[in-house]
Amino acid sequence: MLEKRRLTCIGCPMSCPLELVIIDGEIREITGNDCKRGEAYARQEYTAPCRMVSTTIACNSGLWPRLPVKTVTAVPKAEVMAVARALHTLEIEAPVQIGQVILDDIAGTGIAVIACRSLPSAPNSK
Ligand code: SF4
Repeated sequence: MLEKRRLTCIGCPMSCPLELVIIDGEIREITGNDCKRGEAYARQEYTAPCRMVSTTIACNSGLWPRLPVKTVTAVPKAEVMAVARALHTLEIEAPVQIGQVILDDIAGTGIAVIACRSLPSAPNSK
């Protein structure tokens, strides 16, 4: 069975329009990419789509109330909502250093979450 699928590459701001030709579930041709990253993205997106997850988490004792965090690797797309829900309920104590591992296995994915910036304690915190 012949199938054509269109994707937009998210590898850079060029947003190349990709077209995949798939025969019997196997990618036979990828066009529209201006570089090899686009081909790799198309293959990944077709076979095992995944996304980086970045958000902020609560930090009551910090100089600011929220700490930006991200997953260290991309999360399988089917697990993204579970990861987002787990991060939504997470709270951390300051101080935090940039790159510090906040959780080493978010939502059972085996993927770590790290701090995207340092966050000192608030002057009036314990
Ligand atoms: S194919 Fe290459 S140039 Fe085009 S959007 Fe993707 S990364 Fe950028």
